[in-house]
Amino acid sequence: MAHHTVIVLGSGSAGLTAALYAARANLNPLVLEGKEPGGQLTWTTTVENFPGFPEGIMGPELMELMRKQAQKFGAETRFETAISVDLSSRPFKVTTSLDPSGDPSGEQAHYTADALIVATGASARWLDLPSEAPYRGHGVSTCATCDGALYRGRAIAVVGGGDSAVEEAAFLTRFASHVTVIHRRDQLRASKVMQERLLANPKVTMAWNSAVEEVYGTTEPVKELKGVVLKSTENGSTRKLEIDGLFLAIGHVPNTRLFEGKLALTRAGYLINRNALAWDNHDGPAGLNLGSLANYGTATSVEGVFACGDVVDTHYRQAITAAGSGCAAAIDCEKWLESQHSGH
Ligand code: NAP
Repeated sequence: MAHHTVIVLGSGSAGLTAALYAARANLNPLVLEGKEPGGQLTWTTTVENFPGFPEGIMGPELMELMRKQAQKFGAETRFETAISVDLSSRPFKVTTSLDPSGDPSGEQAHYTADALIVATGASARWLDLPSEAPYRGHGVSTCATCDGALYRGRAIAVVGGGDSAVEEAAFLTRFASHVTVIHRRDQLRASKVMQERLLANPKVTMAWNSAVEEVYGTTEPVKELKGVVLKSTENGSTRKLEIDGLFLAIGHVPNTRLFEGKLALTRAGYLINRNALAWDNHDGPAGLNLGSLANYGTATSVEGVFACGDVVDTHYRQAITAAGSGCAAAIDCEKWLESQHSGH
C-alpha cells in the first residue's frame, strides 16, 4: 500500500490548483483524477472569465495547462477514481478503481495519506423522469459543447434558467434551426448581460413557466427523440413540443457519495468546510458549529481532511473561485501538517 503525505481527490481547477501548491510546498501530492479528468471545464468551449486570458481560452486546454503546471513541480497524477475512503483513523485509507468509469468491480489500488484534499466537484443533474432514461445520450444531453454539432439544422430545447442554460442555448443557436428555452418560472436567474443577449436572438423562443413532464420518441429500430410534453407550472395544462434534441442545464449534484456518514454534509449533499459555514442559509446538519471544525477555512469535520471547489461551493461556483479555494486548501493542509510535526 503506497503512502503519500497528501492525496488530492479530483482534477478540476480546485484539485489541480491544490496539487500545484502542495507540490511547491514539497508535499509530493498524488492526484486521483476521478471519473471526469479535468472536471467541468473540459465540457466547455471558450472560457472568457479566467483572468490572464484576455482572448479567452478553451476549457480543455486550460485544464491541460493546469495539470502540466502541477506535474512540473512534482505532483503525480493518476487516472484512477476513489471508490472508498476510511477516515476513522490516520493515516487515512483510500481505495481506487483503475477503471476510468470508476467501476468498483475492476482492478483496484490502495493508498494511505496523512492528509486529504477533497476536490471531487459536482456532476450535471438529469431530470430523472422514467421516460428520459432511454434517451440519455440519444437525444437528451447534459453537454451542449459535446453534442451541439450533432443538431445542425434541427430543432432543440434547453431546460434551465441559469447562466449555463443561457450560455448553452446561445451556443446551440450556431447549429440548431431553433432553440426553445424551457424554464419553470417566468424569470431567468442568469446574469443580465447574458439574458439580454439570449432574448434578442431571433433563433430563441422562451417557454416560460414550463416543466418537462415526459420525453418521447422512437426506440426501434433506433432510439430517436421526437419531443417533450410540457406542463404549465401555472395551471397544469400540457402541450407537446416537437424537438430533435433536449439539453439539460439544471445545475449539478455534488460528488460526495464517498463521504456519506464520514464527513459533515449539507442537506443537499455538499461538503461543509469552515468557509462554507459563513454563507447565509447554509443548511448543514443541526449541531454542527464552527468550533467543531479545525481552525482552517477549508477544514472539514474530520481533522486532516480539507475540501475545496464545487464539492463545497453552493455560492460562487466559478472556475476561478474553485482554483482559489484549491490554493487555500493546500495552504491549510501544509500548515496543519506542520502543526502535527511541531506539536502545535
Ligand atoms: P444554477 O444557477 O443552479 O441554475 C439551474 C437552473 O436550472 C435554474 O434556473 C433552476 O430553476 C433550474 N432547475 C434546477 N432544477 C431543475 C429541475 N429539476 N427542473 C427544471 N429546472 C430546474 O446552475 P448553472 O446555470 O449551472 O450555474 C451554476 C453556477 O455556475 C452559477 O453560479 C453560475 O453563475 C455559474 N456559471 C457561470 C457562467 C459564466 O459566468 N460564464 C456560465 C455557467 C455557469 P430556478 O431558477 O427556478 O431555480
